[in-house]
Amino acid sequence: MTEKLNVVPFVSVDHMMKLVLAVGVERFLTELSAYVEEDFLRWEQFDKTPRIASHSHDGVIELMPTSDGHLYGFKYVNGHPKNTRDGRQTVTAFGVLADVGNGYPMLLTEMTILTALRTAATSAVAAKYLAPKGADTMAIIGNGAQSEFQALAFKALLGVNKLRLYDIDASASQKCQANLAGMGFDIVISDNAQDAVEGAQIITTVTADKQLATILTDNMVGTGVHINAVGGDCPGKTELHRDILLRSDIFVEFPPQTRIEGEIQQLPADHPVIELWQVMAGKAQGRSSSAQVTLFDSVGFAIEDFSALRYVRDKLIDTGLFEELDLLADPDEPRDLFGMLLRAAKASAI
Ligand code: NAD
Repeated sequence: MTEKLNVVPFVSVDHMMKLVLAVGVERFLTELSAYVEEDFLRWEQFDKTPRIASHSHDGVIELMPTSDGHLYGFKYVNGHPKNTRDGRQTVTAFGVLADVGNGYPMLLTEMTILTALRTAATSAVAAKYLAPKGADTMAIIGNGAQSEFQALAFKALLGVNKLRLYDIDASASQKCQANLAGMGFDIVISDNAQDAVEGAQIITTVTADKQLATILTDNMVGTGVHINAVGGDCPGKTELHRDILLRSDIFVEFPPQTRIEGEIQQLPADHPVIELWQVMAGKAQGRSSSAQVTLFDSVGFAIEDFSALRYVRDKLIDTGLFEELDLLADPDEPRDLFGMLLRAAKASAI
């Protein structure tokens, strides 16, 4: 890793893919989950704020900052469900990790792939505490960009090896099945969501639509199921019928953000929810009975991105899988910024 003061390591999409493949996707997800869990266990040390969202007709652009007092991280991320029609991703992102002591960035990285990995890792960590013991079958409703990452995280952390896929666009399910071929899954593609959830102990909803959608209705959710609700993550964008929420024990990342963005935006502001970090820390109970319906109302919180940035920075050491970015002005004498410009003018005139 570089020690030059003016140079910031930059991880491009190409380098991120090489890093993930060098580590191995499942090992990457497992190690990243450990970083997420480590940071959730020191939850109280972090600056926390609901992400700063700029909403528009077709989507949202968000900034997600946090700090543990030593490191500062933020992610820029968008969510535009219509994008795939123009060949663009629904979700893209990049992020920065910085040194709180001097304010200098220490890492700039792509985070589109990293977001899919960290979202899946967080979902699987939550399910480790909430899903019924021995669960091996997961329904995935919405088989877009996030879906394979979700499947592999649940395999790596919980041993899920049977998938039941459904998407309104059958080609998305076929893509997901083809991408996961040979990776140890028994995969069934269903014609509708009702069939997909049949026999599944875990239901992941990860669809993209900018509306109050009803991907699951109450009659589709049997007792004892764990729901990993990933796609409802914006005001006016939900996936579950309200009755499911009323029947579930609801686990969230950061309540002030989830009340705005999550499935629970459909409920009164005082409806009880349980913070996931408290379950991990043994301060609150996770699954307490085999009949209980547990719901992880995932929206994605800044601390998960912070964990991902931290993990990537640690992994970069000795890999060389980054470029050195000339991002910070570094005059010989710190106060002589203008002099540096004059010297550059002279040098270019020669
Ligand atoms: P994507 O556009 O690549 O895939 C979404 C898929 O959902 C598409 O294949 C689409 O056909 C399908 N779909 C839409 N409506 C459906 C319906 N009614 N029934 C079944 N399938 C349906 O999007 P993506 O990148 O996979 O993201 C999926 C969702 O997850 C988005 O809403 C995104 O905002 C959200 N997300 C959440 C987090 C988090 O931390 N909670 C992180 C990343 C993405």
